[in-house]
Amino acid sequence: MKPSFKTEAEAMRSQLVEWRRDLHQHPEIAFEEIRTARFVAETLAQFGFEVQTGIGKTGVVGILDGDDVGPTVMIRADMDALPIEEQNDTQYRSQIAQRMHACGHDAHTAIALAVAKMFAQKRSHWKGRLKFVFQPAEEIGQGAKAMIADGVLTQMRPDIVLGLHVWNDLPIGYVGITEGAAMAGTQRFSILITGKGGHAALPHQTHDPVVAAAQLMSAVQTIVSRNLDPLLSGVVSITQMQGSDAFNIIPAQVMLGGTIRAFETFTMDLIKTRLAQLAQQIALAFDCEATITYENSLNPLVNDPLVARRLRECFRQVDASLEIIDNIRTMGSEDMSEYLAVVPGVFFFVGSANAERGLNYPHHHPKFDIDEEALVIGASLLASAVAEYVWQQE
Ligand SMILES: [Zn+2]
Ligand SMILES: [Zn+2]
Repeated sequence: MKPSFKTEAEAMRSQLVEWRRDLHQHPEIAFEEIRTARFVAETLAQFGFEVQTGIGKTGVVGILDGDDVGPTVMIRADMDALPIEEQNDTQYRSQIAQRMHACGHDAHTAIALAVAKMFAQKRSHWKGRLKFVFQPAEEIGQGAKAMIADGVLTQMRPDIVLGLHVWNDLPIGYVGITEGAAMAGTQRFSILITGKGGHAALPHQTHDPVVAAAQLMSAVQTIVSRNLDPLLSGVVSITQMQGSDAFNIIPAQVMLGGTIRAFETFTMDLIKTRLAQLAQQIALAFDCEATITYENSLNPLVNDPLVARRLRECFRQVDASLEIIDNIRTMGSEDMSEYLAVVPGVFFFVGSANAERGLNYPHHHPKFDIDEEALVIGASLLASAVAEYVWQQE
């Protein structure tokens, strides 16, 4: 008989809250997760895990084998915080200036540790291998890539990857599992338009890159409205513009920066191609030149449909009072996508907002906080998802 992970998670409620609040008070940003990684490594070692540290700079991997051979299940939690000054007035508020767990990664770390503990205590009842991956630097989109570069998907290759995010866009009691693309791929770009600068009073002597940039910014709005299939989704946002420092100088160069979001790689490619064409040809029309640079891309986050369906059914069995929904999609991105691009699996959303208690500020807001019941729900669901693949039939 599979145990009730709902009961087990409820029994760990105070432990979950204690871990999460301790992490919340000691937030560390991307690739600076020293204290967090040490805490995770020590806790996993106490549970009997074989622990590897320094994977992807500050990441931690914990390995535990079950009673028999079987699948390798990877559980991913992110550990990093944000450079934000917390404005909450709780007794567990951040103790570090300009550092805050404003996305809930403290909750993810606590939940994954709770699941690790549950399975460590039941080693004779499951088969296969559990690989807990505590990742740094999700917020800058570099932690997953760093851990993959250090072999996290090739050494003891996982057969399935599981992860979750507490989600303040959903009230507590709601859980979102989407089949297919759930979060957008992202591509940062910068466009350098080079013309001929000069005196603002003598524009006829210049090739003004500011005017070319203005035309380009308008034209870019047509990519989604005119080039993209209306049944698909995409975003192109230009968010940065740098020209001259002085009111009376026409600059020689203008830099435009921004981001592209899309759910499919081919949509991303279409947008990138059109952006480059528009930049080069509009620049040319104004006797300027444009060069476009792409950096920091992330894949769309795509859930395996079979795994998503199976876990949705599993979650209904865990707790019939949960509202399981299947259509949560966001143009936000998450570097969990990098693992899911290689290994099948699921990333699901655990509703964590509670409007009555004022716990419904959005992620990355200085007053962000969660209903901590999401810790219990998250641990019960993640443990049940793991058990779905490794529990021994008796
Ligand atoms: Zn975030
Ligand atoms: Zn996050």
